[in-house]
Amino acid sequence: KANCGDDSRADNEKDENVDAAKNQSKLEPSESVCKALKEAVEHQPTLDILSQTESSVTETVSIGTLPSLHYLNESVFEQTAPERDDGEHILLQTVTQNTDLITGVYEGGLKIWECTYDLLEYIDDEGETFSRKRVLDLGCGAGLLGILALKRGASKVHFQDYNSTVIEQLTIPNVFLNCEEDSEDEGEGKKDGSPPAKKRTLDSSHHSLSDHCSFFSGDWTSYLSLMQRKDPMLKYDIIFTSETIYNTDYYPSLHNVFHKLLEEDGVVYLATKSHYFGVGGGLYLFQRFVEDKDVFQIKSLKDIDQGLKRHIVSLTFKKSR
Ligand code: SAM
Repeated sequence: KANCGDDSRADNEKDENVDAAKNQSKLEPSESVCKALKEAVEHQPTLDILSQTESSVTETVSIGTLPSLHYLNESVFEQTAPERDDGEHILLQTVTQNTDLITGVYEGGLKIWECTYDLLEYIDDEGETFSRKRVLDLGCGAGLLGILALKRGASKVHFQDYNSTVIEQLTIPNVFLNCEEDSEDEGEGKKDGSPPAKKRTLDSSHHSLSDHCSFFSGDWTSYLSLMQRKDPMLKYDIIFTSETIYNTDYYPSLHNVFHKLLEEDGVVYLATKSHYFGVGGGLYLFQRFVEDKDVFQIKSLKDIDQGLKRHIVSLTFKKSR
């Protein structure tokens, strides 16, 4: 079963979420070790993975002036097990041929959660630039935030998800879908009369992906160790993270990734619901955790007041620490 709470209780409980968080004293953040340990692994975008996109059902999201973003519809994962009536079980069942989902913990990355759309809208409104920036899409799932950064000129984008299945069957194909489209656009856009460039081959897309993106699965503590071993100087200018603070057990490792991998003048953009029913985490508890640590300043950027209250906040290093 997915570990990350109920996403569908919007209407009747919308005004109770912060109170609910405040009343859950037994769910105080602790330094307890994250129970869902999973060794971090880097995934290469192999030709095998990329060729999946050729026969798959794709969708497009267009927000404001942002470039359109393409992604595999989650029904792709459902279609192979039509006899099951429990949607979540279908997701788990159908990707288990070569996967970690049935035996291990699934953290919810196979669907796009609504705070991702909030953050995309926020980026559209505020015009964040990505040119030459190093970006981490932490808990990326489908990877739309990282893909946007990539399309907008980021020099490097790292995609991290807990589940290797999500990275291999969803994130990498999605990044590829969008790179492939860029190469077709380039061809069509030529003004010198030369014929449109041919659709980029899988092989050349593979090289271009490897130049600008890297893909990782595993838990956050293990991800941090892996990155510090790979490149002790690595820092990100921007860390995106959407719908990742539902479990208070993970707050120490999440905070540690921010602390150790964010550039001194970098920004974490965090999109979240007020409260995650059934799991207990949410903005109120995370904010308290961050304030206790006294490393970051947390600033409210946008509140969305439809259904379950949702928020976008930023974290930046305190100057006086
Ligand atoms: N960001 C995506 C979105 O908004 O659609 C996916 C959100 S999903 C609810 C939560 C994501 O957080 C999962 O995809 C998982 O990869 C990541 N995650 C949660 N807990 C984690 C942990 N302890 N270590 C590593 N990743 C974790």
